[in-house]
Parts: sequence; C-alpha cells; structure tokens
Amino acid sequence: MTTHILFAAKSERWPEYEAPLRAALDAEGLDYVLSCEMDAELVDYIIYAPNSGLSDFSVFPRLKAVMNLWAGVEDVVGNKTLTVPLTRMVDEEGLTQGMVEWVTGHVMRHHLGMDAHIVNPERIWDDTPPPLAKDRKVTVLGLGALGTACAGMLAQIGFAVTGWSRSDKEIADVICEHGDEGLARALSGAEIVVLLLPNTPATEDVINAERLALMAKGSVIINPGRGPLIDDAALLAALDSGQIGHATLDVFRVEPLPADHLFWAHPKVTVTPHIASTTRPDSAARVIAQNIRRAETGTPLLHLVDRSAGY
Ligand code: NDP
Repeated sequence: MTTHILFAAKSERWPEYEAPLRAALDAEGLDYVLSCEMDAELVDYIIYAPNSGLSDFSVFPRLKAVMNLWAGVEDVVGNKTLTVPLTRMVDEEGLTQGMVEWVTGHVMRHHLGMDAHIVNPERIWDDTPPPLAKDRKVTVLGLGALGTACAGMLAQIGFAVTGWSRSDKEIADVICEHGDEGLARALSGAEIVVLLLPNTPATEDVINAERLALMAKGSVIINPGRGPLIDDAALLAALDSGQIGHATLDVFRVEPLPADHLFWAHPKVTVTPHIASTTRPDSAARVIAQNIRRAETGTPLLHLVDRSAGY
C-alpha cells in the first residue's frame, strides 16, 4: 500500500529537503506519496519541525509516527494531541559530526589560549606554552548521541574527560558520572565544561551559582545544548567575579538573542547564533527514510523520544 508522508516544516525547508527525501525513500524501496501539503485523512507519517504552523496532530486519523527533523524536541514533546510515537534526529554523518567539529574547535580555542595571540594590541611576548591536553580537565554534561561523540573525540585528543548523564554509562577513556553527587564530582575543578543536555524541566538551570562555584577559577563554559540549561544571572555574576573566565554560548533562552542583551557586549562572552550544528538534508533524509521503512515493515523505530523524560 502507498505510504503518505507529510513534510511539515517552514515552507523554505521544502526545496532543501524534497530531493534528498525522495532519493532516500526510493533507496529504501518504499511506495510513497511525499508532499508539503496533503489531505489530513491520508497522512501516515509526518516529518516535523517547529514553526511549521502544525500544532494539532489529532486531525490525522491514520498517523503512525512523527519524525522530528531536529535533535531537540522541547517544542513538540509535551503536545497532548500527539499520541503516536515521536522520533528525533540522530545522524552521525551530519548533525553529530558537525557538533564534534564545533565543540572540538571551541575547546581547543580555550585550551590553547588562542585569544591572547589573535588580539594582542600591546604586542606582549608571553611565551608561556599551553599545557598538554592530558593536564586539562574537560567535562561534558550529557552523554547522548552528541555528548558521547564529543567526549570521545576530546578523549582521543588526550584531554582528561569526565561526562555526566542521567543513567550510568561506560565510555572508553571517559570518566562517567551520574546523579547529583556525580554532577558535583564532574564539575569540581573542571576547566572547560561543555553542555550537551536537552531542555527538560529536570535540566533547567542545571548550571547555577552553586555549580559554577565548583568549577576551577577562571574556567570556561561552552553551551551548544540549550539556553535554559544556564541561570544567566548566575553566569554573568561568575564572569564578573572572575570565577568563570569565558562563556561561549550558541543557544539562548530567547533566539535570536535580543540586540540589547548583556551577552552581546560582555568581553568574556562569545555569542554564536545557534550554529553549533544542524540537520543536514542528505544524511538526515536517509535517517528518516530508514525509520519509515522500519515502521512499515514492523521493525522497532530508531531514535524514539521518551515522552515522560522529555527527550
Ligand atoms: P540525547 O537525547 O541523545 O542525549 C541527552 C543526554 O542528556 C543523555 O546522555 C541523557 O542521559 C542526558 N540527560 C538528559 N536529562 C538529564 C538529566 N536530568 N540529568 C542528567 N543527564 C540528563 O540528545 P543529543 O545528544 O542528540 O542532543 C543533546 C541536545 O543538544 C539536544 O537536546 C539539543 O538541545 C542540543 N542540540 C543543539 C544543537 C545546536 O546547534 N546548538 C544541534 C543539535 C542538538 P541518559 O543518557 O542517561 O539518557
């Protein structure tokens, strides 16, 4: 039987995704109709992104699953009209690789102290060499698809990496912590902390004044996770006191970050505009097509969201 797939994202996404999705669905051998507009009665699967204008999933009587185009699901996970399985984007080749490259680059910037040499108007000849990675404690909060890959790369470079997640984990060359006491251990003395947690009620303000105080004096926060992970006022106070030496922030409570926000002008903050990584149409289309084929052949879906945990 023909599978009907509705692409529900901002209209400008359709031209980017249509050809990759058709190629991937063809490669999976599916008999399908794919469109960005479709009679609700017919829809079997929805490829979804927020801001599509779609918020009521109850109008799709045949709906079998919703495939979120992005990794984060905070905009859809609590939708009461969504009663079918929800998957999210996990794509090693595109999204994960992009995040590994971005995180590694920003960790290396701070590890090597590059800023002091890039902008050196006083022409100071400070020949202090940076330490080796093995002497730098880096902590990654969140050991999911992205956190595990980033922690693994940082460990491969040689950093002393600790990671933290909800459940207990084992990752080669990474000290894995979980739970509240584990978080305190992971942050204590950390010099570079990378946030790769999802935005859920349990992770809001996970980086607060008390936890910032556990980190090494002058340490660095890198946040490509989500804005609400950080208590912004506590971070600004810690930057001003010197407890935190720098914050590289890719995500914010309000995006785009308002032009008058203190982060833009703060000398110890680097703002990047939510570009740490992104879903890449070619590889993401293959992940989605593979999951639709799995659903159609009765194979368990990959990358299912745990609705009760919120990620
Ligand atoms: P995953 O769901 O694979 O991983 C989430 C990790 O966070 C897991 O290790 C999970 O623990 C841990 N976690 C969740 N809740 C808690 C908690 N309460 N306490 C401790 N640990 C917790 O997500 P991804 O790795 O794919 O993505 C992470 C986030 O990155 C996304 O949710 C999104 O917000 C952000 N992102 C940002 C992008 C950007 O461009 N800036 C691009 C893509 C994603 P456990 O393993 O035990 O379940």
